[in-house]
Amino acid sequence: MFECDNCSKQFVSTDELERVFPDIPDLAQRLDPGGIVPAGECTDCGTLVYPVGVTMPGMFHVTLSLWYADQRVKDLLTCATEGDVRYWCKIVEFRYPTTVEASSVQFPHIELPFMKGGGFKLADVEGEQEFIRPWVTRDTLATGLQVMAVKYPKHFHDFQMENEDAETGDVFLQCCVLDEIVFG
Ligand SMILES: [Zn+2]
Repeated sequence: MFECDNCSKQFVSTDELERVFPDIPDLAQRLDPGGIVPAGECTDCGTLVYPVGVTMPGMFHVTLSLWYADQRVKDLLTCATEGDVRYWCKIVEFRYPTTVEASSVQFPHIELPFMKGGGFKLADVEGEQEFIRPWVTRDTLATGLQVMAVKYPKHFHDFQMENEDAETGDVFLQCCVLDEIVFG
C-alpha cells in the first residue's frame, strides 16, 4: 500500500502511479535527507507518495547518509572541467565573493563554487538551451551529487570508490545543471 503525503489518496501498487521513483521531477530537492524513499508522485495532487504499513516481501531496506569532504567534490569537479565537457557546455560568467580579489583565485572554474557567494554560470555551446540550474555553486554541487547517487548509481559508485574519471565528472556536471544525462 502507498499513500500520498498530502491528500492521503491510497494506491495499491506503483502501477497506478504515473511517475514512479526515481523518475520524479526535481527529486533531489524534494527528498528529506535520510528520509523514506518515495514510491512516486500522486496522480491527483502531484505530491510524493510513500509506502505505508507493508514492507517489500523478501527485501531489506537501508537508507544511508553519506558525507564527503570538500576536496572529494573538488576532485570530481576537476574531472569534469579538465575532461572534455566543452562539447556540451561553456562557462559564460564567473561570480566572485565580494570579499575576494579576482586575481587571488588561481582556478576560478574549480575554486569559486566552494566560496560563499561564489560560482560560475554554464551555457550550452550553441547558446540554444537554458539549463535548469545554470549557476554552479555549492548548493548546485550538493544537488548534483544527490541526483547522481539516485539516478546513476554506477557512476556514483565510481566516485565512492575514488575511481572517478572524465566520464564520471561529465555525468556529475550534467546532474548539477541539467538534473539528468542529456549530452553524450
Ligand atoms: Zn495527493
